[in-house]
Amino acid sequence: MTKFEIRGLRADVLIGAEDREEILKGVDLTIDSGETHAIMGPNGSGKSTLAYAIAGHPRYEVTDGEVLLDGENVLEMSVDERARAGMFLAMQYPVEVPGVSMSNFLRSSVTAVRGEAPKLRTFSKEMQNAMKGLSIDPAFASRGVNEGFSGGEKKRHEILQLELLRPKFAILDETDSGLDVDALKVVSEGINRVKAETNVGVLLITHYSRILNHVKADHVHVFAKGRVAESGGPELADALESEGYERFVKAGA
Ligand code: ADP
Ligand code: MG
Ligand code: MG
Repeated sequence: MTKFEIRGLRADVLIGAEDREEILKGVDLTIDSGETHAIMGPNGSGKSTLAYAIAGHPRYEVTDGEVLLDGENVLEMSVDERARAGMFLAMQYPVEVPGVSMSNFLRSSVTAVRGEAPKLRTFSKEMQNAMKGLSIDPAFASRGVNEGFSGGEKKRHEILQLELLRPKFAILDETDSGLDVDALKVVSEGINRVKAETNVGVLLITHYSRILNHVKADHVHVFAKGRVAESGGPELADALESEGYERFVKAGA
């Protein structure tokens, strides 16, 4: 049983050398293993900032509050330690690493997380199977990490990493953005496989509710102006789909 907790989290975005702006204004959220929580909210409400702050991105500074994985302070961990502790952070704009092949990158990531290198043969099989499940052309294994990948291809590879790394807890930021209907289905099926085969806890950040037609969320939270404005069940996503975010944007302006 894993518990991921965000308590009173406040964070600034650092703008240039001098400026900063508070974006996260006290976020509280508890996610147990096996649960999927969706965060939905208008553009600019701070959803990605939440993901980056938890990931320890240098442009964002946590000013108050804590993030705990089974009681361990995530914010004090190095990026490697976060991964070894079982955290998976898929970013809205994944980085390109030219010159490092996807297969080498994936094997190194798996080695870092598992603490030992998987056998090359076993790992190749595992990777090929996962790629097949995500309809990724086998030729991608030898291409540079995200190099020249389309938006949709990057998203598929994000889920490929998720399938191979089998984290305790995953944050997926806008995994559905820029995907056509077929790709959305493939990517959602990948997330659902990991959910079915492991007890992963998932924080699914999204602007649109359409991914929630494929990946079932146990809890839905509306994010507005840097905090959770309302929490509910899956029905909240349906309400947002028909009503939009206006009432949350106006509230407390
Ligand atoms: P969302 O993911 O909900 O669309 P973001 O977290 O990306 O929202 O952005 C929240 C706010 O923080 C926005 O007003 C955005 O302009 C600002 N912001 C985020 N990152 C930066 C940055 N690197 N420099 C300046 N402003 C930023
Ligand atoms: Mg909860
Ligand atoms: Mg975002």
